[in-house]
Amino acid sequence: VHQIDRTQDVLEKDEQFLWHSMKPYNPDSTMVAASTKGAWVTDINGKKYLDAMAGLWCVNVGYGRTELADAAYEQLKQMAYFPLTQSHVPAVKLAEKLNELLGDEYVIFFSNSGSEANETAFKIARQYHQQRGEYNRHKIISRYRAYHGNSMGALAATGQAERKYKYEPLSSGFLHVSPPDSYRMTDAHLENAHEMSCVQEVDRKMTWEMSDTIAAMIMEPIITGGGVLVPPEGYMKAIEETCEKHGALLIADEVICGFGRTGETFGFKNYGVQPDIITMAKGLTSAYLPLSATAVKKDIYEAFKGAEDYDYFRHINTFGGNPAACALALKNIEIMEKEDLFSRSKEYGDRLRSELQTRLHNHPFVGDIRGKGMLVGIELVKDKRSKEPLEVSKVNEVIKRCNQNGLIVGKNGVTVAGYNNVLTLAPPLSIDDEEITFLIETLTKAVHEL
Ligand code: PMP
Repeated sequence: VHQIDRTQDVLEKDEQFLWHSMKPYNPDSTMVAASTKGAWVTDINGKKYLDAMAGLWCVNVGYGRTELADAAYEQLKQMAYFPLTQSHVPAVKLAEKLNELLGDEYVIFFSNSGSEANETAFKIARQYHQQRGEYNRHKIISRYRAYHGNSMGALAATGQAERKYKYEPLSSGFLHVSPPDSYRMTDAHLENAHEMSCVQEVDRKMTWEMSDTIAAMIMEPIITGGGVLVPPEGYMKAIEETCEKHGALLIADEVICGFGRTGETFGFKNYGVQPDIITMAKGLTSAYLPLSATAVKKDIYEAFKGAEDYDYFRHINTFGGNPAACALALKNIEIMEKEDLFSRSKEYGDRLRSELQTRLHNHPFVGDIRGKGMLVGIELVKDKRSKEPLEVSKVNEVIKRCNQNGLIVGKNGVTVAGYNNVLTLAPPLSIDDEEITFLIETLTKAVHEL
């Protein structure tokens, strides 16, 4: 009784004082966390949950790593803050380390969130073309179903109308094309990805809009929020070549795909491309502290040099590259390398998917099980042949049953098209065998109970 009272007390105050994400839309599902460790969350009643959604927040090394807390604490004591209008050692070290991971020469601009990293990328892309005398190149192409952030530019790039229409007008100059939905598209099997209609659409869009008005295209290597859309193998390379053909920059949004989620350091590494600009955020620190980065190829950065004083990149971010966050990020990457979490993501992700395939692929509601590394999407449908999405109420039922049995899973997709039907699994990359087994069994049971 005492425990129930405690929850109710907190929930009453939550109701009164807190406007958290998805409230009041989602008022019944508020869980009050008390502590976290590894892949587990304990609520204030002492109930434990395995958090298979932690990876969507990029808690890649798992919760409760005291080494990360120590790294931040030591840095806070030594030098808590200095702005990056000047410089400091943690930021320099982190930028150098990121270069090593990215595999080419990039200059790094630090911010605090994925939205800010993308806004920064858009501004750099637009000004880059201006620096070179191409004054018309301002349009940014992105894909329907993709999420790129909550600020006016990042939201304009986002391809989910239901998140946007109440806030119009957003930033102008953002155009959308179809995403590669390998489960539904009929030409995913084509060997030459340039012949796929979703690639041709990009080429056509850039042509008809006039190439010299296009600044950039932004894409996640795998669309996560829109339903874990793993593209056909040659797709991203074909998009890179299409951008090159039209003189547009390619921006990879690695906010979720980066830092091991897809079994590689960065998602783009799965597809043999080298984007011009790469944005990353929560994965830098496993979400322990706010930090994000916009990595820009050296030659793009060079175009900003020698500009008149008023032409410099007039963009300041007060908190961006905070020393404690940078020190924590360095420790986070060190842990990922030491514990080999990048290859572990691939190995455990393959196991997770193949066992889920074995147990669930015959189920009448399971249309598709897909993903890469430790990112898994399970698309639920009413009917396997028509592929009509399963009603959200039923998808929610699975999530609720998982929750009752101590497993947190996510749901992704887009509401307007009815595709809000993709169960999403993204556990910490540090998850062990026993935990994977618990995840598979709990989820399988919940689906079979449908
Ligand atoms: N890009 C992608 C792909 C994301 O998933 C998110 C958020 N999950 C963002 C950008 C925005 O990040 P933030 O919430 O840190 O602004």
